[in-house]
Amino acid sequence: MLSADFKSTSIWLKGVARPHIDTRPLPEKADVVVVGSGYTGLAAALELKRLGANPVIVDSGTAGWGTSTRNTGVLMPFPFSCRRFMALFGAALADELIKLYVDAYHDCIDTITSRGYECDLDRRGQLRPAHSRAALDDLEQEYDMISRHLDTEVRFLGRDELEEEIPGQRLWVGARLNPRLQSLNGAKLHACLLRHAVEQDIPVHENTRVLDIEHATGSVLVRTTRGDVTADQALAATNAHTGKPFTDVSARLLCLTATLIATERLEPSVITRMLPQLRACVDTRKGFIAFRPTADGTRLVLGKAGSGGVFGSVSATALRRGYRVLLSVFPALRGVKIEYGWTARVAVTADNIPHLHSAGGVNYTLGYNGWGIAMGMYLGAHAARRMLATGAEPLIFEETGFNRVNKWLERPVFQPAIRTWLRFLDALH
Ligand SMILES: Cc1cc2nc3c(=O)[nH]c(=O)nc-3n(C[C@H](O)[C@H](O)[C@H](O)COP(=O)(O)OP(=O)(O)OC[C@H]3O[C@@H](n4cnc5c(N)ncnc54)[C@H](O)[C@@H]3O)c2cc1C
Repeated sequence: MLSADFKSTSIWLKGVARPHIDTRPLPEKADVVVVGSGYTGLAAALELKRLGANPVIVDSGTAGWGTSTRNTGVLMPFPFSCRRFMALFGAALADELIKLYVDAYHDCIDTITSRGYECDLDRRGQLRPAHSRAALDDLEQEYDMISRHLDTEVRFLGRDELEEEIPGQRLWVGARLNPRLQSLNGAKLHACLLRHAVEQDIPVHENTRVLDIEHATGSVLVRTTRGDVTADQALAATNAHTGKPFTDVSARLLCLTATLIATERLEPSVITRMLPQLRACVDTRKGFIAFRPTADGTRLVLGKAGSGGVFGSVSATALRRGYRVLLSVFPALRGVKIEYGWTARVAVTADNIPHLHSAGGVNYTLGYNGWGIAMGMYLGAHAARRMLATGAEPLIFEETGFNRVNKWLERPVFQPAIRTWLRFLDALH
């Protein structure tokens, strides 16, 4: 199943040129300490700098060590389930939320194109294959809600038409096709943001873990493994890696590990036989399957919600599970080897929306529920404007309750139960 040169790193990092980061001493003072060097932290720091402030970024790992270099790279202009939003928040609020997702999507693409970020942004489109008739109906209803804000081509495909997109598939009864929606290489996007931050002379301190933050009126003292920094404010952009010292917020995030795989290099014709349009696909199950080809069309990348694993150590069981899912979608790939396997962490909130939160002198922007490329950049920049009191209006993400979750569900021992529960819910729908 594994190729002889199997690597336990993200395929998206392959060939990505990271900018050089000087190791320098931590400054004693800064305007804002940004904790986390993923999309959120970098977008926040860039916006702070643009507005004339003096931010410092610290990360406990190397820059981009978190999920921003490990994701699937699908830019989703809408939340995962609009119907759930309707049920939780009612029609008016759900509509406002959907508009924010669409705004974040457009903003992300505008930022990438206007700054000339080279991150394999493609327009191959996205498919949402539906696992049941009811799920397909939901997709149609959802689109009525989304189309008020998103002006993009859409088609609904029955099983026969889906055959043209994924020949020979047996898992789905139809799909929603958005032929113009975009995807990218998340690690390349991260490298572009990081390079931009370095060019703007924003200090990035790698391997610098925040241990504690003390709050006094008008300032914070950020204690790290490499010294202390006094700042006017701090922003935690730590998403699924939120832990100590942010324990109060960490109690509101369910941080789960997923395992992703990428095949060995295949002839482009092999991939186009299986996915002729080379589109990114995310199906409708709660334990959803997401897959797409790499930009050069030579490998397939696949991840599954609830696939489990322990962050940072790729287990043989999780890889086997991933391989089984791959073969269930593409039986013709039997015998093809897996060359990359890696883990990534997702932060799930009780209401499935991100939150901007403020407590103990620290601002927080996190909880993307698996859709944080565009939203992380959008909310990071927004948080920067809010911190500098530029008059930016509060977003709904600041105003809704940020409730606690059942943290014990994070324990590896509960992962099989979570998978069974997701399968049960999908069987019901
Ligand atoms: C399997 C998977 C697939 C995904 N696919 C997609 C997708 O297709 N499309 C999409 O839009 N989104 C996707 N996502 C989600 C998206 O990748 C994340 O929401 C996004 O990367 C979050 O970025 P971030 O900057 O907020 O956090 P991260 O990139 O995770 O960065 C957080 C950083 O905080 C640092 N940190 C934490 N605690 C401390 C501390 N105490 N001191 C110092 N540093 C600290 C960590 O080291 C880490 O580097 C996916 C997620 C997963 C898990």
